[in-house]
Amino acid sequence: MNTAELPHTAELSVPQIAGRPRSNSIAPRQLTPADVLAQNRAWAAKMERERPGFFEEMAKGQSPEYLWIGCADSRVPPNVVLGLEPGELFVHRNIANCVYSTDLNVLGAIQYSVEVLKVKYILVVGHYGCGGVNAAMSDNDHGTLDNWLLPIKELYENKEPVLAGIKDDKHRAETMVEFNTLKSVESVCRTKSLQNAWKLGQEVKVIGWVYSLDSGTIKDLNVEVSSPADVYKVTSLLAPGVGIDAAYPTTRDSESTLRRPDGKIALVRNDAQERKDLSGPGELGAGAVETANAKGGKRKRSFSEAIQAFINLKF
Ligand SMILES: [Zn+2]
Repeated sequence: MNTAELPHTAELSVPQIAGRPRSNSIAPRQLTPADVLAQNRAWAAKMERERPGFFEEMAKGQSPEYLWIGCADSRVPPNVVLGLEPGELFVHRNIANCVYSTDLNVLGAIQYSVEVLKVKYILVVGHYGCGGVNAAMSDNDHGTLDNWLLPIKELYENKEPVLAGIKDDKHRAETMVEFNTLKSVESVCRTKSLQNAWKLGQEVKVIGWVYSLDSGTIKDLNVEVSSPADVYKVTSLLAPGVGIDAAYPTTRDSESTLRRPDGKIALVRNDAQERKDLSGPGELGAGAVETANAKGGKRKRSFSEAIQAFINLKF
């Protein structure tokens, strides 16, 4: 991907070094540390020239409104893809954008950004073509990395009933990326930092997105959690038999086949007109779906009711 074509502020663009033009190639430009140091000096000088006092202001402190939790992949640079400037995005990255309750690194980043910086949004951003997720889906030996990826492997096995039904390899991997992102959203919501902040009435939203390497654009997973009561909506989507389609009742007109943990199959049909009529304010994935049981009995429910019924085997 040619990052030069991504939307970003002019201030963030890096001056080109003479004799080393940028191109659409992803091949390394073979810049030496001295080269990139020279680029840094050129960038800092350009910034100060165009916006005198910029760094003096930066040095006073930070008050970003966003925390980004994303993958360490070099092709997903957070500030660049969002067009945000220094100071506007607090960032935590690791392989496959994982959020584990045993990882002091991510827990510390969440605590600091919520309790001290008081960010308003936590963006959990996966990306299609994630090498970490792909590795978790394979039986190959990846050494130490396999320990880090173990929870994703468990999620993969948990979601096997849904993923096994997706024949296209790329689509299956992309769906797994979305599930992994949802899992991290849920994990963020369950941290002490978020639970305490919400208890105190602090307004902070946790949002699930997936970045596309193919287009440079971000897909909204329509997952936005702003209170402890909302967390179940993400948890519902992570149940073994629930397909990722269930996350998009407001954008898709389709029939989804859901395989429940007991092996029974249920059909959920999204209905655009009814969805519109029943949508409620602030309701994640609000809408109506028609659920059908094995005997053909049909019933209209709100989307969240349908998911709960599915989880509770009440079809
Ligand atoms: Zn990745």
